[in-house]
Amino acid sequence: MKAIQMRICSNQQVSDRYWHMKVDASELNADVQPGQFFQLRCGHDIHPLLRRPFSIYRINRMERTLEFLYLVKGAGTQRLTLMQAGEYVDVFGPLGTPFVLQDDWETILLLARGVGIATLAALAQDAAEKGVQAVAILSARSRNDLLAAETLQGFGAQVLHVTDEEQTSGVEQVRGLLDSLLQQNRIDAAFTCGSKRLSRLLQDVTRKHAIPAQIALEEHMGCAMGVCFACVCDVKEGDHLKTVRVCKEGPVFPLEKVVL
Ligand SMILES: Cc1cc2nc3c(=O)[nH]c(=O)nc-3n(C[C@H](O)[C@H](O)[C@H](O)COP(=O)(O)OP(=O)(O)OC[C@H]3O[C@@H](n4cnc5c(N)ncnc54)[C@H](O)[C@@H]3O)c2cc1C
Repeated sequence: MKAIQMRICSNQQVSDRYWHMKVDASELNADVQPGQFFQLRCGHDIHPLLRRPFSIYRINRMERTLEFLYLVKGAGTQRLTLMQAGEYVDVFGPLGTPFVLQDDWETILLLARGVGIATLAALAQDAAEKGVQAVAILSARSRNDLLAAETLQGFGAQVLHVTDEEQTSGVEQVRGLLDSLLQQNRIDAAFTCGSKRLSRLLQDVTRKHAIPAQIALEEHMGCAMGVCFACVCDVKEGDHLKTVRVCKEGPVFPLEKVVL
């Protein structure tokens, strides 16, 4: 795999804290799957030195473009906002293990918090293309941060949202929503990203209902190639704990195995 200079088609602010970037991926000779991520160089200078990891938000195979949705956080993402359409961004990937979406599943449940919504949007897109119905609970600080809700609805997903500002995002409130969704739908599998407390909740609920579940983990990354071990986490293997690298063995793991 090599780094590719991808032309930026657009890079726009879409809410107070979020930006959206679309790049021309016609030079990419690899299939991209939901759950995988790319390492982007933020700018053309020596600083910030490390690439930053971003999940695939949308995969447009016909158009040969990729989309990223990013939260402006620190030096890297701030620099990324300065990149303009027509400029080239240095992109390395796709990296990591994707989500598994079985052909015989009819309905899947998505539970995302914050920018985790970006990671699950590509899965909702894939599900729609395979005729799998998605029901989603999206959690965010404010309504303003729920921008991917429309994208998911565009893929035919049933979307419920909870926010901190409306005081609807507490764990027990989300548990109530999960319980009613599970009563109304026969859920074949569940997926989560973006919040440890919601992931713990989903771990509990899916264990009780014997539903297979997957999580996309986000850990601070250095090299993202499995060398530096900056992004390790623990997973259960039988009675033992095993340390794994999120960039290499993940970022997608079976939810029941991850120590949260
Ligand atoms: C697999 C994966 C997929 C991701 N997908 C997205 C996405 O689609 N959209 C999005 O907005 N963000 C995503 N993130 C988080 C994103 O990488 C960080 O927010 C970003 O690197 C912050 O960089 P910064 O320079 O702006 O902030 P800083 O805080 O200045 O970053 C400093 C260092 O910490 C690392 N870092 C900081 N926060 C995180 C974090 N939450 N996770 C991992 N590393 C971090 C950075 O890579 C950098 O090396 C993802 C992270 C991972 C691991």
